[in-house]
Amino acid sequence: MGWAIALHGGAGDISPSIPPERRQPREAALRHCLQIGVDALKAQKSPLDVVELVVRELENNPHFNAGKGSVLTTEGTVEMEACIMDGKTKKCGAVSGLTTVVNAISLARVVMEKTPHIYLAFDGAEKFAREQGLETVDSSHFITPANIERLKQFKEANRVQIDCAQPVEKDVKKETPTGDGDSPIGTVGCVAVDNDGNLAAATSTGGFVNKMVGRIGDTPIIGAGTYANNLCAVSATGRGEAIIRGTVARDVAALMEFKGLSLKDAAACVVEERVPRDNVGLVAVSAKGEVTMPFNTTGMYRASATEDGYTEFGIWPSVEN
Ligand code: ASP
Repeated sequence: MGWAIALHGGAGDISPSIPPERRQPREAALRHCLQIGVDALKAQKSPLDVVELVVRELENNPHFNAGKGSVLTTEGTVEMEACIMDGKTKKCGAVSGLTTVVNAISLARVVMEKTPHIYLAFDGAEKFAREQGLETVDSSHFITPANIERLKQFKEANRVQIDCAQPVEKDVKKETPTGDGDSPIGTVGCVAVDNDGNLAAATSTGGFVNKMVGRIGDTPIIGAGTYANNLCAVSATGRGEAIIRGTVARDVAALMEFKGLSLKDAAACVVEERVPRDNVGLVAVSAKGEVTMPFNTTGMYRASATEDGYTEFGIWPSVEN
């Protein structure tokens, strides 16, 4: 038993020919954020504090689809969502439809800690953020030129709602017109466990490019994109509609709980057998300090570290240490 941490910056059809100027900042951010998380765990911060800290950092980085850098709705607006869960207490908080809150993950935590509820969305969530004194800014803060261009391309090709409503075939998905060899999806997430086996999970996203206004994905849905209990913590990424149908994060925990599977086997079973190919990736840690980061997409930006000195960074299936 020891501490462990894993984080992701989104799974999808990430081309091996992605230009270095798009790849390197993300890799650097993953390394930086992993270090922040490791330092926090070593400093005995709670897993809940660690996952919030790391996800805030990823939200503030415009190279990921969360916070600043969130992809745009069909109307060119941002609607951000996030979820956080404490494995020990099973307390959780979730938010959707945010347009001005700088760190959605911190609002999710405040919902968890300061309301009798779990999930706030749209105007109510925005109002609560102001009442609680969370940092808010004009919506334009979150909108990057790259995402304006992405939306333009998707609109021209009339894409996304079709992707989400139908099973995704690889040849169909390859048509996705991102124009830069990059995936349009890139949610962020972090899971952590401390030396005492306490677990936490956090996930944050802008959703999908050209999503309908009001669309809610898997990220804030407890048990779909995010889940933690006394056995494991899971943060998923990919096509939200497929992840919700697959109850991905909870199924990992349920396979451990009811079938006695190891973390690795449970996560592999969910990713390989329960969700169609090209749809999902996840990062997970167990109470024993194990880590797994499977995906059935072309790639997933990911990083992990454990107390025994193991670290891993990767995008595609071949692991880069
Ligand atoms: N799962 C997210 C969503 O469907 C997208 C992502 O993971 O990049 O909103």
